[in-house]
Amino acid sequence: MPSPDSPVLLALGLPAGIVLWSFMEYVLHRFAFHEARGSNYGSREHLRHHGSEDTVLESWYLSWTGVLLVSLGLIPFLGRLAGTADLGWGVGIGYLVAYGFYDLVHWRAHRRPYANRYEHMVRKHHFTHHFHAPLKNHGVTTPFWDHVFGTYVEVDVVRVPRRMAMRWMVDEHGEVLPEYRATYEVRGTRPLDDDQREQDRELAFANQAPTL
Ligand SMILES: [Zn+2]
Ligand SMILES: [Zn+2]
Repeated sequence: MPSPDSPVLLALGLPAGIVLWSFMEYVLHRFAFHEARGSNYGSREHLRHHGSEDTVLESWYLSWTGVLLVSLGLIPFLGRLAGTADLGWGVGIGYLVAYGFYDLVHWRAHRRPYANRYEHMVRKHHFTHHFHAPLKNHGVTTPFWDHVFGTYVEVDVVRVPRRMAMRWMVDEHGEVLPEYRATYEVRGTRPLDDDQREQDRELAFANQAPTL
């Protein structure tokens, strides 16, 4: 049995922190952002992310501040209270690293072509959330918690409104690149004018998929 403060506990804390973040990723995304329907700042920002063409979260520095306070402040503090500071640091550091990974995976999903089968799998999951079922598929780095809580859905082909298509998936004419056609379809001809922006925003705040 390792003593309450030991590198072994720090090492054991890391995977626990990673699992803890992945659970929080699900819980925050589902309850604090979507089911809150715009009643808090984070929810409004997230629903704006759903309702606009190709944006990622604007106040990333606020999320990072919150995560740094939790991972390097609150969690180690609770560890110390429980008499095992090293376990607290391990969990906190695992949580922070997993959040950084989430942030990168989400940013890349919207902005960069996928680089491997893992990215291909998780972003299809995420874009099904965006464009088919905003109250399903809340996990971004893993579909695991969606399976656990019954919010997992899968579609054969993800249909993306042309005005919202990620730039990495289309050519200069707005057509899906051949390598992505088995997974994504870009549909619709609605121009992105002010009326359309307003409708996209309203649907996002009602947790409904955008119209094609
Ligand atoms: Zn997204
Ligand atoms: Zn969402």
